[in-house]
Amino acid sequence: MRITRIREIAVPLEGGISNALVNFSSHTVSLVAVSTDAVRDGKPVAGLAFNSIGRYAQSGILRDRVIPRLLAADPDTLLEPGGRHFDPRRVLRAAMQNEKPGGHGDRAGAIGALELAFWDLNAKLNDEPAHAYIARYFGTPPRPSGVPVYAAGGYYYPGADETRIRDEFSAYKDQGFNAFKMKIGGATLAADMKRIEAVLSVAGDGARLAVDANGRFDFDTALAYARAIEPYGLRWYEEIGDPLDFDLNRRIAEVYPGAIATGENLFSTADVHNLLRYGGMRPSLDIFQMDAGLSYGLTEYARMIGKLEHYGYDRRAAHPHGGHLINLHIAAGLGLGGCEAYPGVFQPFGGYPGACVVDNGVVTPSDAPGFGLEQKHELSAAIGRLLA
Ligand code: MG
Repeated sequence: MRITRIREIAVPLEGGISNALVNFSSHTVSLVAVSTDAVRDGKPVAGLAFNSIGRYAQSGILRDRVIPRLLAADPDTLLEPGGRHFDPRRVLRAAMQNEKPGGHGDRAGAIGALELAFWDLNAKLNDEPAHAYIARYFGTPPRPSGVPVYAAGGYYYPGADETRIRDEFSAYKDQGFNAFKMKIGGATLAADMKRIEAVLSVAGDGARLAVDANGRFDFDTALAYARAIEPYGLRWYEEIGDPLDFDLNRRIAEVYPGAIATGENLFSTADVHNLLRYGGMRPSLDIFQMDAGLSYGLTEYARMIGKLEHYGYDRRAAHPHGGHLINLHIAAGLGLGGCEAYPGVFQPFGGYPGACVVDNGVVTPSDAPGFGLEQKHELSAAIGRLLA
């Protein structure tokens, strides 16, 4: 089996929405296809994946550094023994040739998009959904394939009031979601409390609503919000301060009795190791949101999960950031606690196709081979351009 072509295109995200720090109107996503000479149903098999939502496409790193390394590698060195599948660990090693350790930034997303395409490809070679292939590969104990998800939204829209955010979450509830997450930190504390109360009137219970500050707060602001939200008993308080300020995270964890969530901006096992050592995260309470598409792919992500377990955390404390099909399959395949869903935002990548049924807060992946990105009609045009 040989790679015949690797292509990447940058696909813009739709919608002009904002969180506490970032406006997404200029954001793009790297959509990658790895084509091979393997044939199924009369067609060459191609693996598809993307990095993640809420960052940027990594066209330059892929085109100038990473893709040429894979195309130059001896094809047999990228395969598993026996040659029936690609070996993602070998792919990752080839992609990282001549790269220094550390400095895990956009490179981690570039390689994440590419490495994940090989998981899609391997599952398609078996004609099975990616979650089934992932579970067997890692020896995950069998669990129900449905994944608990929460609907993430509640961004800041120009000129919007509490009616808009209440209507937004009512629509998610009507779609079958029963847990939710909204943004905070993009307005004053008083204005955010009004927004939280508006969404709580839909969620019904603080345990069904998480809030996300997107890394914006200094310690004093983080503490003021912690004291203000504590009486609500919220599901979790996410990315309180700078993602690498483990000391700030620890100091808030010492005084805030509710769950804290973080990790979506940690792109390597070494970073996660430091969070575990210095961030004050509490087993059986706090939540980890690392995202394979931002952190070199599933090989590195599985190492992060191993690190969590080594430190006494249950893998069900992992809820990957991202709200898309790839992480749905990863959460199902690795037996994680759940994942995010973006039912209303971040098209064409966010949310799940109609074939993935949402019922009572649980989404079940379809039987489509691989990650099933071909079933997401919003992505059809981009996939068509990529494979043309
Ligand atoms: Mg977040």
